[in-house]
Amino acid sequence: MDQLKPSPANSSPLTPLHFLERAATVYADCPSIIYNSTTYTWANTYQRCLKMASSISSLGIRRGDVVSVVAPNIPAMYELHFAIPMAGAVLNTVNLRLDSRTISVIFRHAQSKLVFVDYQSESVVLEALSLFPPNCERPLIVLMADDGEYGIRSSKSHLHGNYEEMILNGDPDFDWVRPESEFDPLTLNYTSGTTSSPKGVVHSHRGIFIGAVDSLIEWSVPKEPVYLWTLPMFHVNGWSYTWGMAASGGTNVCLRKFDAAAIYAAIHKYNVTHMCGAPVVLNMLSNVPHGKPLEKPVYILTGGAPPPAAVLLRIESLGFVITHGYGMTETAGLVVCCTWKKKWNKFPAAEKARIKARQGVRTPGMAAVDVIDPESGKSVARDGKTLGEIVLRGSCITLGYLKNPEANAKAMRNGWFYTGDVGVIHPDGYLEIKDRSKDVIISGGENLSSVDVESVLYRHPSVNEAAVVARPDEFWGETPCAFLSLKEGVTKKPTEEEVVAFCRSNLPHYMVPKTVVFKEELPKTSTGKIQKFVLRELAKAMGSI
Ligand code: ADP
Repeated sequence: MDQLKPSPANSSPLTPLHFLERAATVYADCPSIIYNSTTYTWANTYQRCLKMASSISSLGIRRGDVVSVVAPNIPAMYELHFAIPMAGAVLNTVNLRLDSRTISVIFRHAQSKLVFVDYQSESVVLEALSLFPPNCERPLIVLMADDGEYGIRSSKSHLHGNYEEMILNGDPDFDWVRPESEFDPLTLNYTSGTTSSPKGVVHSHRGIFIGAVDSLIEWSVPKEPVYLWTLPMFHVNGWSYTWGMAASGGTNVCLRKFDAAAIYAAIHKYNVTHMCGAPVVLNMLSNVPHGKPLEKPVYILTGGAPPPAAVLLRIESLGFVITHGYGMTETAGLVVCCTWKKKWNKFPAAEKARIKARQGVRTPGMAAVDVIDPESGKSVARDGKTLGEIVLRGSCITLGYLKNPEANAKAMRNGWFYTGDVGVIHPDGYLEIKDRSKDVIISGGENLSSVDVESVLYRHPSVNEAAVVARPDEFWGETPCAFLSLKEGVTKKPTEEEVVAFCRSNLPHYMVPKTVVFKEELPKTSTGKIQKFVLRELAKAMGSI
């Protein structure tokens, strides 16, 4: 065997960019993107991406330079997931709901050379550039709009052309820049900063290739799905289904913005088969009567935050089929999934929802996932009770945080990636997240899972959304404080006492919220995660009980 060595025939670097080349042949005349009245085929998309890549190169962008994009789910956003790396550059999608100061910090930290900006974000991006120190090099700006009109400019002067012209003038035979090594960086994403300041997460061509394929397998995505984009592509690059759709020859149905009505309308109009959505989207869809029942099942992958069993129960009763996965910016997509077993089909719906609310087991592409005791580093007992930190090992874990050795040293230790999430392992090997380490409430020395309290609150018939955080308490140290928003049209609003009584009959005494606060709406990140740190501050400001 010794004489068998890698050769060019068997060692070309793994990259998800090959998915597009292949889709242009296999699915040449199949729809790739639908947006308003525009439909592209995979042949169109490949041509447009090649031409855009050549135009990006002609602006002097070189291998390894960072190119940023601030845009909603429009066709250009999808194309740039291929065109930017095909020019050899690193794709940096930026959350369009960030403020100008944070965007400015990101551009400078990433040393972006070129920024593609949707017209609706133009002013915030120009403001971000105005915050650059005088001697700091500014990126070129490309403006994009739905009507195809967009220009390239530096922060002050208009340079040339518009987006469609860039594509028009691009070289259709451009020899796209292939990675020299599969470990070359492909993406740079900044964490949304739910718990700390944003960090620049870098993924390689290899990591994204493996993550994208793994995510398709685990969700059982068939050939030619019709995929509705509600998950922002700027969020972990749409959990890598941006590239995944090219691998499976899917149709990307793009919406600039959406609400429940727009989602139901798109599902019926385009025969949507698949979509991803955080639990907040499931809640939104299940609380709105849509009138017309689903003719065929729509498969939803949910994750990003814990989906309460009560919400899973409601949404599945409407004909949606939910898969529940867990991942983070550092994993490029899902790495743990509540892999469904046929034997569970016979259980009553409520029991199925309870099982599905668990995060699950590692995906096939992962080497290992564990829950470990932070002190001893040993696996916790598989008893569904003992808390520990979730750790991961696998090829789709980030290469590391850009220019942040401290964060790298903290996250990557002993051959593991430390997630900062706290969970348990059940006797059947399925893990369940109980909290982020910062969200755990310590009451009378007892660790208390805010997720467990929330899942009971979601069962209350009047509750729309629930978040539980720690409130300082002189005697107990901390006690649970529940923030609730109520469903629209609730005629008789529950009182604080009623909610507490409801929790008492469903939870051990020490887990029952001592404070209940009703709010019109709970504060959320752009991806629909409830901002617990904001609520924690509010609870703190209430003072000790
Ligand atoms: P941020 O940490 O800034 O919110 P991410 O989008 O990377 O950015 O969030 C990853 C985190 O989201 C995980 O560490 C975990 O706390 C949470 N999360 C992701 N998926 C799930 C899930 N299925 N259930 C519970 N929490 C989840």
